Amino acid sequence: MGSNTAQQFDITIVGGGMVGAAIALALSQAGLQVALIERQAPAEFNPDQAPDLRVSSINLASEAWLTRLGAWSSLQQMRLCPYQRLQAFEHPDSVVCFDAADIKRSHLGHIIENNLLQLALWQQFPANLTLFCPAMVTALQQTADSALLTIDSGEQLQSTLVIAADGGNSQLRQLAGIGTNGWQYQQACLVALVNTPYPQQDVTWQQFTPTGPKAFLPLPGQQGNIVWYDDAARVKQLAVLKPAQLTAELQKVFPEQLGKVEVVNSSWFPLARMDANHYYAGRVVLAGDAAHTINPLAGQGVNLGFADAKLLTELIISAHQQQRDIGNEDLLKTYQRKRKPANLLMMSTMDGFYQLFGNDIGPLRNLRQLALTIASRSSMLKTLVARYAVGSE
Ligand SMILES: Cc1cc2nc3c(=O)[nH]c(=O)nc-3n(C[C@H](O)[C@H](O)[C@H](O)COP(=O)(O)OP(=O)(O)OC[C@H]3O[C@@H](n4cnc5c(N)ncnc54)[C@H](O)[C@@H]3O)c2cc1C
Repeated sequence: MGSNTAQQFDITIVGGGMVGAAIALALSQAGLQVALIERQAPAEFNPDQAPDLRVSSINLASEAWLTRLGAWSSLQQMRLCPYQRLQAFEHPDSVVCFDAADIKRSHLGHIIENNLLQLALWQQFPANLTLFCPAMVTALQQTADSALLTIDSGEQLQSTLVIAADGGNSQLRQLAGIGTNGWQYQQACLVALVNTPYPQQDVTWQQFTPTGPKAFLPLPGQQGNIVWYDDAARVKQLAVLKPAQLTAELQKVFPEQLGKVEVVNSSWFPLARMDANHYYAGRVVLAGDAAHTINPLAGQGVNLGFADAKLLTELIISAHQQQRDIGNEDLLKTYQRKRKPANLLMMSTMDGFYQLFGNDIGPLRNLRQLALTIASRSSMLKTLVARYAVGSE
C-alpha cells in the first residue's frame, strides 16, 4: 500500500491534548519513532495569565505516572493546587469528609489547569518525536500491517499503529468506522473562575441538590473554580450573565461555605456519556475521551484517559523491546479487555450517583440520606472511598 513519499513511523498519535501528549512522550522516551499530529499547540505559560476555566482533579495514580514522565516538576514550576480533603453533603450541617490522613497520604489529589498539564507534557518532548502542528488529518487508509494518514499539508505518514487521542468527537474514530453508544444528559454544567476571600484552600467539596450538584475546586492563591450543574436551559441563561450578575446568582444557590466570592469569568459545557463500541479497528486504537466520555461529576475523565495511556504504552513498549509487532491484534485485544470494563464501571458508578443525588423522588431521598449517614459513620467505607478517589484501588 501507500505512497513512495510517505514518512515512516512506528506510531502516529492524532491529538496532542493531555492524553495524546502523555502517550507521545512515553513512547518516544522508550526509543520508538513517534509522530504527533495536533491542530493547535498549547500557549506558553505566563505567571500573570488568568487560570484556564478547564481544570481537572488529578488523582495520585495519574500524578505518579506524570512524575515518571518528567512532567510533574514542570507543573510544580507553573501552577497547581493540592487538596487534602474531599467533602460531600446535602445539608451543610451533615458533611461527609474524606481525608488524606485516613489513608496516610499527604494529599488526595491536585486541581490543575488543563492547558498547563498539556504544556508540561509538551515541554518534555524529546528530539526523536516528530511534531505535525498545526495539522489535521484528511484521510486514513489501512492494510493488514500498517496505516497511512494524509494530513492537510498533503504529507503522508505511514505507521505500524495509529493512536486516536483526538477527544470526544474523534475524527479518527469515525474514519476507522468505530461506532459509539451513549447519550446527552438533560443537565449541563456552568464553570466559573472565582476570587475568594479565603487564603488558598485545601478542600474540594460538592453539595448535592435536587437541581444538580454544586461544587468548589480550589486553585492556587485566593481563587477557585465552581461547577454548577443544572437543567441545560438554565445553564445557558446563566452563561450569558455578566460576572457581577452571576456572582449574585451564585450567592443565592451555593452554600455559605463558598464565602463572598466574585466571578471573574465563566463558560458552560454540555454533559455527554459516550462509550466506543470497540477500542480498536485494524491498526487504529482509541485512548482517552476518543474512547469514552464520562459525567464529570467526580472528576475522573482524564484520570481514566491516563490509565488507558499508561497500559497501552506499557504493552507497546514491551512488544517493541521483544521485537514483536507493536500493533498486533492480541496486544490491542488485551488493552481493550482490561480498559473497557474498568471505564464502563466508572461511568455506571457516576451515573448511579447522578441518579441517586440528582433528584427529589421520595424513596431516593431517603436512600441518599441513608448513604450519607452510613458514609459519615463508617471509617472503613470512608477509607475505601478515599482510596478510590486517589486511583489506588
Ligand atoms: C466541565 C468538565 C469538567 C471536567 N473535570 C474533570 C476533572 O476534574 N478531572 C478529570 O479527570 N477530568 C475532567 N473532565 C474530563 C476531561 O476534561 C477530559 O477527560 C480530558 O480533557 C480528555 O483528554 P483527551 O486528551 O483525551 O482529549 P481532549 O482534551 O479533548 O484533547 C484532544 C486533543 O486533540 C486535538 N484534536 C482534536 N481533533 C483533532 C484533529 N482532527 N486533528 C488534530 N488534532 C485534533 C485537540 O486540539 C486536543 O488538543 C472534565 C470535563 C468537563 C467537560
